[in-house]
Amino acid sequence: MSEDCIFCKIIAGKIPSAKVYESEKILAFLDIGPVNKGHTLVVPKTHYETVMDTPDRELVELALAVKNISAALHTALKADGISVSQSNHRAAGQLVPHVHFHLIPRYKGDGFHHWPQGKYAEGEMERVRQDVAKFL
Ligand code: 5GP
Ligand code: ZN
Repeated sequence: MSEDCIFCKIIAGKIPSAKVYESEKILAFLDIGPVNKGHTLVVPKTHYETVMDTPDRELVELALAVKNISAALHTALKADGISVSQSNHRAAGQLVPHVHFHLIPRYKGDGFHHWPQGKYAEGEMERVRQDVAKFL
């Protein structure tokens, strides 16, 4: 539990939330500011800041919850699709520093756009690929 974390307060029951799923290690609740109705946040009950800090076992459980809740949203809300989004650190748009996955029901023509696409210069893609691959 991190004292100043809003999601830890939700997990501890100090702030109310609309829970859709709960297990020993995971909580899923409706986002207070939904892109579309049913927009759900899936979080581990233990406070980890980013996906990189999250232990493998919890990450596996999070991934399974993301799958099952996405299927439930798709069926229950007659969504045309589901976007799964996850941001790490402020520069990526993470406002709440407790790792979370956004599950967003999507509808044809709902106007929620993806990020703009850039371009690589000649040879740059291969250099970037090598830089990343050497850490894996
Ligand atoms: P981030 O920008 O960190 O990826 O997303 C944080 C999300 O948490 C936002 O979509 C925001 O609406 C949601 N959020 C922030 N505070 C609360 C809260 O008190 N209750 C709920 N249910 N969602 C919250
Ligand atoms: Zn927290």
